[in-house]
Amino acid sequence: MATVADVNQDTVLKGTGVVGGVRYASAVWITPRPELPQAGEVVAEENREAEQERFDAAAATVSSRLLERSEAAEGPAAEVLKATAGMVNDRGWRKAVIKGVKGGHPAEYAVVAATTKFISMFEAAGGLIAERTTDLRDIRDRVIAELRGDEEPGLPAVSGQVILFADDLSPADTAALDTDLFVGLVTELGGPTSHTAIIARQLNVPCIVASGAGIRDIKSGEKVLIDGSLGTIDRNADEAEATKLVSESLERAARIAEWKGPAQTKDGYRVQLLANVQDGNSAQQAAQTEAEGIGLFRTELCFLSATEEPSVDEQAAVYSKVLEAFPESKVVVRSLDAGSDKPVPFASMADEMNPALGVRGLRIARGQVDLLTRQLDAIAKASEELGRGDDAPTWVMAPMVATAYEAKWFADMCRERGLIAGAMIEVPAASLMADKIMPHLDFVSIGTNDLTQYTMAADRMSPELAYLTDPWQPAVLRLIKHTCDEGARFNTPVGVCGEAAADPLLATVLTGLGVNSLSAASTALAAVGAKLSEVTLETCKKAAEAALDAEGATEARDAVRAVIDAAV
Ligand code: PEP
Ligand code: MG
Repeated sequence: MATVADVNQDTVLKGTGVVGGVRYASAVWITPRPELPQAGEVVAEENREAEQERFDAAAATVSSRLLERSEAAEGPAAEVLKATAGMVNDRGWRKAVIKGVKGGHPAEYAVVAATTKFISMFEAAGGLIAERTTDLRDIRDRVIAELRGDEEPGLPAVSGQVILFADDLSPADTAALDTDLFVGLVTELGGPTSHTAIIARQLNVPCIVASGAGIRDIKSGEKVLIDGSLGTIDRNADEAEATKLVSESLERAARIAEWKGPAQTKDGYRVQLLANVQDGNSAQQAAQTEAEGIGLFRTELCFLSATEEPSVDEQAAVYSKVLEAFPESKVVVRSLDAGSDKPVPFASMADEMNPALGVRGLRIARGQVDLLTRQLDAIAKASEELGRGDDAPTWVMAPMVATAYEAKWFADMCRERGLIAGAMIEVPAASLMADKIMPHLDFVSIGTNDLTQYTMAADRMSPELAYLTDPWQPAVLRLIKHTCDEGARFNTPVGVCGEAAADPLLATVLTGLGVNSLSAASTALAAVGAKLSEVTLETCKKAAEAALDAEGATEARDAVRAVIDAAV
């Protein structure tokens, strides 16, 4: 099968593909953000009240417009719009703006000054909180445009199909997208975990992020061919070839939409497909898909803003909501993976020099073991109350396990509570020591996001290092192979629950390496299942060999694509 990259090597720009699909349409740039005002004149004392009223009215208009859109949207998109509207009404931010106005600044400048202050605070907090600065800039720009009576920044009005280009997309813009018109997204900045990527996945719009400054040369109206799997943007595609690639892509999408589980290769080799969830809602959504259970419940995401540890009963109530979604199936709950890019106020260490290499995940429990035992009590309580027994046991795994001692220590605590005990393999040491770690455990699950970060010594949040933080890196695949080989020797089930499991092509390699279950965002599962149904186990093994033997990530992808294309 031809790909965009094959068509035109020299005119192809490259970013990080986050939602697959090929599209050919005119580019359109998002309506620019307003020029930010300078401090300017001081507003006379007697006019300051009117200035404050002007700000209040503009903020109210922006907030109610966002809320209206939130009511018209569904799922996470609705939540994002509601949350953005909530930020316009945030008391701290509004107070800071009003203080500026009372001090004599024009409302526009007071908005800029207050937002700048909040952006520095968010950036200092780091991690996921820092990613929310896009939302802050977004509300700033909307309120300023409203104060000036200008067109709202963001999505332009279009009448035909277009591919939307932007430096970065605000969550509010992405959530409001009409996907019949905006058939693809390309951003200069952003990363695979940004809001843009999360919502593009939910909307299932082909999307490329971190494309670099090269895309700025593309003008609105210019026809481009994008491939969301390869992350390529072709400015010089042959119209007939492009149309053919788009129709192949749409056919593939239709096959995916029709796919029904359980997943197996063409010759009947079963691979369990499970969902990654973060709360009751996402678990309920997963239950509507072909997911056979939950392979990763990221419990820390329930508590990102909790300043105090929830009680055992409160935690049990949260966990029950997830367990209830799959009453008769496997559910893997991960103990708190606080720290690094997921600071949990009541658990994380403050001010570490290198938080990704610091006291994160299970390491927190060394100093605060009660935090872990109370969480395990809560998981056991939720599980017992729902009558989950041998048919649907609750599995629990620890993040960031690095030694056999840690694995045993954790497993003992789980078993005392009747829970099935496992560990994530996401620190290279855990893979290398699999023969010592596995005898203590009932299962392992490979976290390819962190395994890649730590194997390649490259920060997973850095757009500049995206070429290294790629799970196709053969070094990562070799660690996965080693883990699978040891899993087979010790009869320990091996799953993968990082983003790698959501990549259909890579899923063939993981299957060939001997991975027993793949867990990913529930929206990604059908594409993985459909791909596996097209290949035999033998082809998967050949794909795995080709990837392991490649020089780098790009070569591994190309080699595997060649193996699969030759076989189907
Ligand atoms: C991983 O590291 O691959 C993983 C699944 O965990 P998280 O992304 O939550 O760190
Ligand atoms: Mg991880």
